[in-house]
Amino acid sequence: MDDVPLPLLKVQELRTGFVVGGQSVSILNGVSFELSQGEVMGVVGESGSGKSMTALSIMRLLSRTRLAVTGGKVLWLGRDLLTLDDKAMQRTRGKEIAMIFQDPMTSLNPILTVGRQMTEALQFHLKMGKSASVSYGQELLELVGIPDPARRMREYPHQFSGGMRQRVMIAMALSCDPRLLICDEPTTALDVTVQAQILELLKRLAKERNMAVILITHDLGVVAGLADRVCVMYAGNVVETGTVDEVFKQPQHPYTLALLKCVPGLDHPRKEAIPTIRGAAPDLLKRAPGCMFRPRCTYAVATCADVEPKLRGAASMQQRACHVNIWDKLSTKSDTKQTN
Ligand code: SF4
Repeated sequence: MDDVPLPLLKVQELRTGFVVGGQSVSILNGVSFELSQGEVMGVVGESGSGKSMTALSIMRLLSRTRLAVTGGKVLWLGRDLLTLDDKAMQRTRGKEIAMIFQDPMTSLNPILTVGRQMTEALQFHLKMGKSASVSYGQELLELVGIPDPARRMREYPHQFSGGMRQRVMIAMALSCDPRLLICDEPTTALDVTVQAQILELLKRLAKERNMAVILITHDLGVVAGLADRVCVMYAGNVVETGTVDEVFKQPQHPYTLALLKCVPGLDHPRKEAIPTIRGAAPDLLKRAPGCMFRPRCTYAVATCADVEPKLRGAASMQQRACHVNIWDKLSTKSDTKQTN
């Protein structure tokens, strides 16, 4: 029998939380997904759904918060990152897995030149000498479309525009040729035209380098344009996953369906309100039994109150965490202005 190649990243039942007033609170409540080499996966959901927390837990960057991983596995080529000692994790972070954040200004050190910040990582991870790291740094700036890289290396972050700063962050993230790049809302702080340029750049680089990308965003349009697969998160769980085509054409979870209905089309009548999802995101301090989406869901059945739905189906297929097949019900249900 042929050996089945390991997924690059396999997250299994990942739980992250904190203790408040003697009570343990789960922010991530058993997140599971897989990612293959060269695959771009979009992670979507409302604020507070656990998207960024998943990324920080994978990267083990929770130490400055009161949060800690409380269970599960993060298998990187079969090796559980959660069990690595700090030194081994530091070697993996940056070299094999890199991350870029929403606001490049807060990620760059304002009192060091861009060149100094770029060469530091190269010297640390790749053991390059000073002059080799400077010329490779210039090469990387050129790769991400920054003109006159030799001069730009001598400048400080405040001398760069928002878009150029994000290009610097991408160059730094790529410096050690990582196999996985995690992008946490990489274009939210940028204006629309610069957003499009940065996304196009990410798409090109991912393809050229056969690099896997986890793209965290609240923008479904970005996912449609860039990702191969999508993971929809709600209340610290993955509630649906599949290829972009599957999930966007025939969503299986009521929350995904509701999110998609909230995206205004070009033909949306100007005087008509844009649909919203009724209710608010749940209070994670008060996790009730059953499905966390139930108070906002009109497809709910009795089981939903008691039994927490789990993702069903093989990881390579479209999966949903819902007790109901909504497509059985959709034909008999009339649409309302609200999505549920
Ligand atoms: Fe709605 Fe029930 Fe599905 Fe939850 S499990 S999304 S409440 S139908």
